[in-house]
Amino acid sequence: MRVLLLGPPGAGKGTQAKRLTGAFGACQVSTGDILRNAAQEETPLGQKAAAIMVKGELVPDALMIDLVAERLRQDDCRKGFILDGFPRTLEQADGLEGILKAMGSELDCVFLIRVPEAVIVERLEGRRSCRGCGALYHLVFHPPARAGVCDRCQGPLYQREDDWAETIRARLRVYEAQTAPLIQYYRDRGLLKEIDGVGDVDEIQNRIRQAWGEARA
Ligand code: AMP
Repeated sequence: MRVLLLGPPGAGKGTQAKRLTGAFGACQVSTGDILRNAAQEETPLGQKAAAIMVKGELVPDALMIDLVAERLRQDDCRKGFILDGFPRTLEQADGLEGILKAMGSELDCVFLIRVPEAVIVERLEGRRSCRGCGALYHLVFHPPARAGVCDRCQGPLYQREDDWAETIRARLRVYEAQTAPLIQYYRDRGLLKEIDGVGDVDEIQNRIRQAWGEARA
């Protein structure tokens, strides 16, 4: 499986990608997670990225393309990959095409997860992540058993700084201006599969798997 998940912030790309990895043995490549880890470790890339992420803006294309090129060449991506959060611009999409071509590979399909804006804001404001293992929760839809503590590893839960209301709005504007043009880009290539992203997590996962089955047929 070599796919990518496209959709606005809060569409559920990370949650759905994690579930697909379990089922298909493909690895999840989340550029947001890679950047957040780099920021936590205070690497030069991380420090640069943190200042951009907090404003809801995008890290420069050339940097992202190099980062993904290196990641996709690692062994665990050989069985396949699920890209989540990349590409986010037309330049990154062209970059990805080049990376895959150089590896003698190509995308199988692109899942566009569609969610109305009101639902996105509600999801992002309540989202909490574990500092220890990266597990995702929601204060209303998927709360942890003990407030503020991860069920899986007992790590502390936190709210991403870019999930604050003002930054959410900035990220949605960036999505519309820079990422939404990718919908037509992948539609033109016959790769786009549209998924209704409203509903519970299992329901949406089933829709993706059904679309995957159709794409393979
Ligand atoms: P995400 O976790 O995918 O919502 O990404 C969080 C933030 O990381 C974004 O708002 C951007 O600032 C940055 N980021 C993640 N992926 C990319 C990308 N492909 N291109 C540029 N910036 C990115």
